[in-house]
Amino acid sequence: MADILIVGAGPTGLTAALSLAALGITPRIIEARTNASNLSRAVGLLPGSMTIFDHLGIAERVRGEAVTIEEARILRDGHLAVDLRLDADPDPNVRLLSLPQDRTEAILAEALAERGVTVEYGKACKGLIQDESGVTVAIEGGEEIRAHEVLGADGAKSAVRQALGLKAEGIELPEDWSIADVELAEPVPPATTIHLNGAHDAVFMIPMERSRVRLVSNTSDALATFGPGLAIARVRREAKFRISVKQVPTYRVGHVALAGDAAHTHSPVGGRGMNLGIDDAAHFAEALSDGSLAGYSAARHAVGAHTIGLSERARKTLLGGSGTRRTVGVTLMRLASRNPALARKLARTIILG
Ligand SMILES: Cc1cc2nc3c(=O)[nH]c(=O)nc-3n(C[C@H](O)[C@H](O)[C@H](O)COP(=O)(O)OP(=O)(O)OC[C@H]3O[C@@H](n4cnc5c(N)ncnc54)[C@H](O)[C@@H]3O)c2cc1C
Repeated sequence: MADILIVGAGPTGLTAALSLAALGITPRIIEARTNASNLSRAVGLLPGSMTIFDHLGIAERVRGEAVTIEEARILRDGHLAVDLRLDADPDPNVRLLSLPQDRTEAILAEALAERGVTVEYGKACKGLIQDESGVTVAIEGGEEIRAHEVLGADGAKSAVRQALGLKAEGIELPEDWSIADVELAEPVPPATTIHLNGAHDAVFMIPMERSRVRLVSNTSDALATFGPGLAIARVRREAKFRISVKQVPTYRVGHVALAGDAAHTHSPVGGRGMNLGIDDAAHFAEALSDGSLAGYSAARHAVGAHTIGLSERARKTLLGGSGTRRTVGVTLMRLASRNPALARKLARTIILG
């Protein structure tokens, strides 16, 4: 019987596995995909994740590949409305880094392999049952894995969550969102740019490498919403997606816990989702190792609810559909960005929450 089985090798599952291995607990980790992901969904890495990565010994590898975002700009109908330094805080840890999610996952998986744990690809959890001594997890194809504890880190459609009979509660946003992963003909400065068009449309541009950017929009066509002004060499990927703002009522039932998108989802505004999952994972590992798992659900539910609240306030201010709220929000940010003390405070709020 395994001590702990982690279902899902996204950033949450990999961080949980590496954190456990670093604490001397050898987990098993299964993944439905047959190989590593090459999707760069999340790009923003916040200081909290970097502190965790520091403890796990991978912060330098991440910093070596990541771009430090130096500035945030907001353009309102094509005119520069806010220009805010994000790299001016005297604390060098208060920085926003950008790295494609597949690279973050690759660095985590590499460090995990160095500790002797490899991801078991091609094993999809189909369900589970619990008894007094542990959990039996059914794998597609007929295999069964027994474990004392299971962590469901299997994303927004979590099979583990469904097997527990838990429902993520909240709302689904009605509109299609879109992303584009774009290689440019010329390098761009390391600044994140938000184009706000009219009362509702928006597109966020986040540099991932010197000549590669991510566009995310609350419209169905991020490239069209960005408009001209990008020297595009190649569009690597375009996709549409829907957003749920949801959270499970409890993060643990019996010997099965949830973490990451399996427990909570929200909009990409503020770039919190992956970072919250990484934080859940590190806390889960610590709680498992020091015998305090009983408090895991309440503690992480509170942190998740707080983060969803922050992300929702930012989304409603910037994209909420009321032109007035957008105007007031942008005006306040413009005023703050022109006063050095307020600008530093605003930058800290954006980076630290
Ligand atoms: C367009 C977009 C942009 C985003 N930008 C940001 C950002 O800038 N910053 C940020 O912090 N977040 C961002 N996010 C959110 C971020 O991508 C997610 O919060 C993050 O991927 C969650 O990680 P996770 O490991 O919990 O889940 P996932 O990344 O979904 O990983 C779950 C893993 O479980 C596997 N799996 C699923 N079902 C099973 C099963 N039955 N058995 C075994 N394995 C299974 C999946 O294959 C997957 O590998 C963005 C999301 C999107 C869509």
